[in-house]
Formats: sequence, structure tokens, C-alpha cells
Amino acid sequence: MVERRTMLKGSLGAAAFAGLQACTPAARVAHASTPPPVPAPGKKVALVPIRVTPDQLIDVKCCIRPLRAAGPNLGTETIGDRLIVHNYGHGGSGWSLSWGSADVAVGKAMSVLPGEIAVIGCGIIGLTTAVLAQQYGLKVTVYARDMIQRTRSFRASGSFTPSSRVALTEPAGPAFGDLWEQMARFSWKAFRTCIGLPGKPVEFTDSYGLYDAPPQRRTRTGDPAITDSYATKGVPVQNSEFAHLDSRIRDIVPPSIALPPEENPFNAPYATRASQMHFNFPSYAHMLLTEFFGRGGQYVARDFATPAQFAQLKEKVVIHCTGYAARDLMQDPSVIPVRGQTGWLVPQPDAPYSVHYRNVMLLSKADGVAVMNLNSNPPNLGDMFGVGNSMELPVRADIEAGLKIIAPALLPAASA
Ligand SMILES: Cc1cc2nc3c(=O)[nH]c(=O)nc-3n(C[C@H](O)[C@H](O)[C@H](O)COP(=O)(O)OP(=O)(O)OC[C@H]3O[C@@H](n4cnc5c(N)ncnc54)[C@H](O)[C@@H]3O)c2cc1C
Repeated sequence: MVERRTMLKGSLGAAAFAGLQACTPAARVAHASTPPPVPAPGKKVALVPIRVTPDQLIDVKCCIRPLRAAGPNLGTETIGDRLIVHNYGHGGSGWSLSWGSADVAVGKAMSVLPGEIAVIGCGIIGLTTAVLAQQYGLKVTVYARDMIQRTRSFRASGSFTPSSRVALTEPAGPAFGDLWEQMARFSWKAFRTCIGLPGKPVEFTDSYGLYDAPPQRRTRTGDPAITDSYATKGVPVQNSEFAHLDSRIRDIVPPSIALPPEENPFNAPYATRASQMHFNFPSYAHMLLTEFFGRGGQYVARDFATPAQFAQLKEKVVIHCTGYAARDLMQDPSVIPVRGQTGWLVPQPDAPYSVHYRNVMLLSKADGVAVMNLNSNPPNLGDMFGVGNSMELPVRADIEAGLKIIAPALLPAASA
């Protein structure tokens, strides 16, 4: 195997030097805005291989995506004399849609011209909603069982995936696409304002897909032999039931391009590359909390046993953002658990890129290398992976098995 040090020599030497400069805040800003090395056409980019030995595995997190069949609930209701605006049920897209969804919810709250509001929940949805409401001039108190670092949001992986398990086409209805697009575009613009900030709360890196055979376009058509569906089972039964909306924002999200063999640096015969936006959880949370408290926000630790307790709050307008917990709290069985698990390797800043191969994903960010192993029996479940599973205990062996699958493909390709 080629030594990491050997591979570092050459084009990535400059990046290593930049890393040494990252001791001062000013240098960190400069480092964060340095674009990744772009290889000359026909040349392989000199990548440092991601180290995937089990000794690098420092954490395994498990979490439930709150898939809501009709898409996120952004409806309103009154409890006592309080206006409740809902903002929950974002599936595998909560980080990605956070700003756009907050904009819709805060807009509804503003319709009664409140001076102050309560936000229930302090995951990515609640905290973003709180900050956006402050930006619109409202005084905000967040009431929640846990602050963001202890929520399910912190157990995600952290990429811009705005239509990942966000809704099912039939129950969501034809109007959902427009709403989704509005939220995705609003969020994208908001995240763009965070690029290059110290600590890299949001960054772009290259994402490689590796294949043993020429990659095929995934078909989204349903199997006509399967007659059951969400309507009969209460959970989706095949991939084609999910709303796939990414083509609506093709103009802003970088596409995936096939790499010619002479540009493929990996030990797999076929490769694609795309630029992908990622979120680094600790610095992103720090950024949001700093703004929230800096604008005079109040945080109150509180556990609500029933929605009736919302009416006991002093604020007349409440935005409710409890994520998967809304299934029980609001008695909303259309919120479907979708289990997901990530392993975390020690951060590897000299190897800042993502790879997926044979249903295993590696996502190397400033906050660590996230590992997801989507193999199971049967493999290739696609969007159905984890659907209906609310088991939230991590299984380290699954992550270690994934590392074994992807390791051989990470070896550098033989020189042409
Ligand atoms: C493995 C995995 C990977 C993912 N990757 C991505 C990704 O790459 N990109 C992306 O966009 N999304 C991703 N997601 C989805 C994303 O994590 C969720 O959509 C998002 O975290 C939902 O956030 P939330 O704020 O609604 O809920 P939560 O994070 O669950 O926050 C809920 C808040 O409500 C509070 N609360 C709950 N019940 C009560 C109560 N009764 N009283 C008081 N407070 C209460 C909690 O304490 C918490 O503060 C992923 C999910 C998983 C599982």
C-alpha cells in the first residue's frame, strides 16, 4: 500500500501547509476559503487515502429520521387561546430544509403580529426557527428537553440532501413539490452565507461514487407486482412511493460527472465526482447558539407531556418543533421512523472528500469522518433502508463491516 505520507507529497503539500496556518482565526478563514485542488484534465487528483482501520472509530450514533407521509407539518391550530404553528416531520432532510421550513413557519407566526414567540424544541429545526424569528425582530424563548448537541439532529451525517425521505408522493399531493422547492432554495441561499466562516460550519467538498460496473441511473418506477402501499400498510413498501424532487433544483446543486479512467484515483474501475455541501455539527451549532443568545434569546429546559401544556406558556404564539417526538406528543401516526446509524472516525483534515462504494459511505468533514453502511439482507434497499425501524441503539459491528467493504476501493489506482 502507498504510504499516506508519500501520497501527500506533491499537489497536496500546499494544503498541508495551509493546515499548519490554521492556528489563528484569520488563518482559519483563509484556509476555509481555499478551494480544493483541481487536477488538470487527464490527470488523477493526488488524494490522501481516508484511513478506515477500526482503531480510528471513536463513536457510533444512531438516530431516527422523522419521515412524515405528507411531508413536514407546517399547519396551524389553536390550543386554548394560543396559536400553534407546527414545524416537524422533515425525514432525512431536516438540516437541509431548516431555513426554508423556518421561513414558512415564522411567516405564519408573524401573521398575528406577535412581539414575542415560544419555540418548542432545540434540534436543528427549532434552533434555526428561533434564530430566523429573531432576525425578523421577534423576542424568542426556546423551551426544550435537550439543547441541540444532545438531540437527534446531532446524530445525522450532515449533507445537503433536501429530498431525502422527506415525503411520500401520494399523501403529499401535487402542491408539495412547489413548497419543497421554495424551502430548498431558501435554505441553499442561507447556507451559502456561511461558506468560508471560521470553523467551517458549512463547506463544499468533492464526493466520489465508485462502481465495479458502469453506473446506471436508478429507476424510480414501482414494481407492479407489489399491490400494498402506504395507504394499506401505514408505511411505504417500495422506493417508488417516496417523493424524489431533486431535479427541481438541478440549476443550483452541482451535478455528478463521470471520471475518465485516467482521472480516477481510486482502486475501482468506475468513478463519478460531484461537489457536495456539508454541515459540520459542532461549529454550526456554535454559530447558531452564539447568534441566538447574542440577540437576547432565552432557553428554558422543559419537558411537555401533552400539547395542552403549550397553552400554559406566557407567549401567545408557539412554533412547535419536536421532530420524531411529535409522533407521540401530537398523536400523529403519519410520522414514520426511519432508522439510521453513523460511525465516526477521527477527523482527517488532509483527506477532505466523500466516497461511496457498494452501499457504504464515507464523509470526511472537519468534525470527523462519518461512516454509513447501508448493506443489509437484502442489500440495495434504497430509500426503504431503516423504514419502520425505531431501534435507536447503535451497532458497532455494522460500521466495522462497512469499513471492511470500502477499504479495498480506497487504495490508489495503479498509475496509467
Ligand atoms: C443517520 C441520519 C443521517 C441524516 N443525515 C442528514 C443529512 O445529511 N442531511 C439532512 O438534511 N438531514 C439528515 N438527517 C435528518 C435530520 O437529522 C432530521 O431531519 C433532523 O434532525 C430533525 O430535526 P428536528 O429539530 O426536527 O428534531 P430533533 O433533532 O429530534 O429535535 C427535537 C427537539 O425537540 C425536543 N423535544 C422533543 N420532545 C419534547 C417534549 N416532549 N418536550 C420538550 N422538548 C421536546 C428535543 O429535546 C429536541 O430539542 C439524518 C438523519 C439520520 C438519522
